[in-house]
Amino acid sequence: MRRFPCRYSGNWRIVRWPRTKRARRRYNQSLLGGIEAGGTKFVCGVGTGPGDIETIQIHTTSPEATTSAAVEFLAKRSLQAVGIASFGPVDLATGHITSTPKAGWRNYDLAGTVRRGLGVPVAFDTDVNGAALGEARWGAAQGVSDFIYLTVGTGIGGGAMVNGRMLHGLGHPEMGHIRIPHDMARDPFPGVCPFHGDCLEGLASGPAIQARWGAPAPELPPDHAAWTLEARYLALALANWMYTLSPKLILIGGGVGEQSQLFEQIRKELAGILNGYIQGCEIAAPGLGSRAGVLGALALAEQAIGQGLRP
Ligand SMILES: [Zn+2]
Repeated sequence: MRRFPCRYSGNWRIVRWPRTKRARRRYNQSLLGGIEAGGTKFVCGVGTGPGDIETIQIHTTSPEATTSAAVEFLAKRSLQAVGIASFGPVDLATGHITSTPKAGWRNYDLAGTVRRGLGVPVAFDTDVNGAALGEARWGAAQGVSDFIYLTVGTGIGGGAMVNGRMLHGLGHPEMGHIRIPHDMARDPFPGVCPFHGDCLEGLASGPAIQARWGAPAPELPPDHAAWTLEARYLALALANWMYTLSPKLILIGGGVGEQSQLFEQIRKELAGILNGYIQGCEIAAPGLGSRAGVLGALALAEQAIGQGLRP
């Protein structure tokens, strides 16, 4: 007996491991591949969902070596489609990594290389959009048509689902770089964003916290003044996204987002900022934890089925 998530509801179900040849063939035909492509590691998975996924981790080195190791792992099984949730910046139309400072990866055709290596449909999106999709499919945002998934860590990124679809556009949203009020008297720190200085990411990302307070976020005690300021900045940003995208739910994850004391402070700050103008949007933690990326890649793969051989 094995536990499987239901293909339609995402709920767990117990099924008998396929014993007959025909049942095994049907199971194998439902397999999906996923690549969570990160700057330090690639997590590759094969399976059908959270209860049935085999993963490996590959240290990110040169694009050729890393991608061929991923393709080699995925090629062991017969897959319906592969999803790639990638670090950026990326060109979603062509499946390329674009202007990354990471050596060798600039203008690398990641989606095309995987598609040519495996000969199956490949879906390609940002890591944060992938994680958002994973949360929608199997995590804390199941059944929610309009929500935001925010990750606060080394950077700040956000993915938005609007009317049941991930929001794209000219490229993809860059929610971390919005401008928020910066009270220089309260916080004279200039910000760390190389492009904008004191944008949201410049003021509230993990590196910003470390540079401002002289210690990495996980080492700061829960009652440290850093968290009051962090909650203020995130609440200001949340209010802006709530006014523009009208989400029903906002999930906050990432290394900084794991600080559970932040949630109450954010809700309190947000209530003051909104002043009753919008009510009912829930703020919560993601449900898939560190597996959101690779599961999101599987969810992307699901969307690629039947879309032909294109990135
Ligand atoms: Zn910025």
